[in-house]
Amino acid sequence: MISFYIHFPFCIKKCDYCDFLSFPASDEVREEYVDALCREISLYSDISGKNGDNTVSTVFFGGGTPSLLTTEQLDKIMSLLNAGFLVSKDAEISLECNPGTLDLNKLKDIKKLGINRLSIGLQSAVDSELKTLGRIHDFNRFNLTYSDARKAGFDNINIDIMSAIPGQDIESYKRTLTEIVNADPEHISAYSLIIEEGTKFHDLFDCDTNVIAGKNLPSEDDEREMYHMTRCVLGEAGYHRYEISNYAREDYECRHNNVYWTGGEYIGVGLGASSYFCGYRYKNLSDMSEYLSAYGKEKGILSQFGPNPDDLIKDVRLHEEVGLLSVKDKMEEYMYLGLRRTDGVSIRRFTEKFGADIDSIYGPVLEKLIKDGLMIKNGDMFKLTDYGIDVSNVVLSNFLLD
Ligand code: SF4
Repeated sequence: MISFYIHFPFCIKKCDYCDFLSFPASDEVREEYVDALCREISLYSDISGKNGDNTVSTVFFGGGTPSLLTTEQLDKIMSLLNAGFLVSKDAEISLECNPGTLDLNKLKDIKKLGINRLSIGLQSAVDSELKTLGRIHDFNRFNLTYSDARKAGFDNINIDIMSAIPGQDIESYKRTLTEIVNADPEHISAYSLIIEEGTKFHDLFDCDTNVIAGKNLPSEDDEREMYHMTRCVLGEAGYHRYEISNYAREDYECRHNNVYWTGGEYIGVGLGASSYFCGYRYKNLSDMSEYLSAYGKEKGILSQFGPNPDDLIKDVRLHEEVGLLSVKDKMEEYMYLGLRRTDGVSIRRFTEKFGADIDSIYGPVLEKLIKDGLMIKNGDMFKLTDYGIDVSNVVLSNFLLD
């Protein structure tokens, strides 16, 4: 089974807190980029065709703002996937979108192309907070996009929300939670704002006063209360938390993200996209002109690779970072990715995967974390307690091996 992440790095404008690989660009650059992206996908279909391993179970269009792809561009990409791979009938095919970047007709068109899950970046239901974040939409615009998506027949929708926004307080965050619960999506991702280096927020942040552009960041106590409120309000509304920051109705967990958290392999295509394929973790070129030139028509790179995927993966003209995971790396990932999921990690699967007993590798660590109330053992599973999830960054760092 293959999972695809397809990166579309373009946005109408850069949000003030964003450190993703995303930026505005002209229609011409976007078109050139999609052509290069298609050539990259062809490269993989060629190789997987030669290896006879080509069933696609999930596709995720992320960005950036992939809802800026035209219907024709999306059609081209989907046609290429369908021609080069066996896209499973029940494949989960998600597209990230921003309110105001697609209308009812476009939503109907992309549904026909096979996109069956939308992930909408709302962030807040409070207009002043959206403005502070530098988002292009207001709450009204979100409501229009959301209701158009329902009218177009989308029955699997995620909404992203954010806490710890400058100027946000407990009451305004509660309003966002209430509005989102009333909207009744199938899935909710709830993240806390992190001030990342290289963003406008980072430049504007005054760490002495905890203020950004004249707006107070919520205090640590308020942040903690928002965090607990999220779990409580969404839990009461029937959403179960299945990952540290993700909540879903029954049977609506994001299958694509579960591939990441359960150590499954995936192919990332597009600028700066990461992959875990054939045992390698690697990252695409993140400089646009280098990426366009690597997949340029005139290079003829498509004909240069035989059936061995190692040749493609290790090619430094295409990938800026390549590493073959050792058993130790895989064990670490199994633990710190798997423990992000609330049902935890299976003891039996660890033994099957690595031919070693989990206690022989992590025995003392597990014993201490259980003693400290941060983890529990439940049948075949080790998982974090609620307290362990609260301080998950610290807990998960214990699983790095010397
Ligand atoms: S829309 Fe998303 S990817 Fe684009 S700039 Fe804003 S936060 Fe970044």
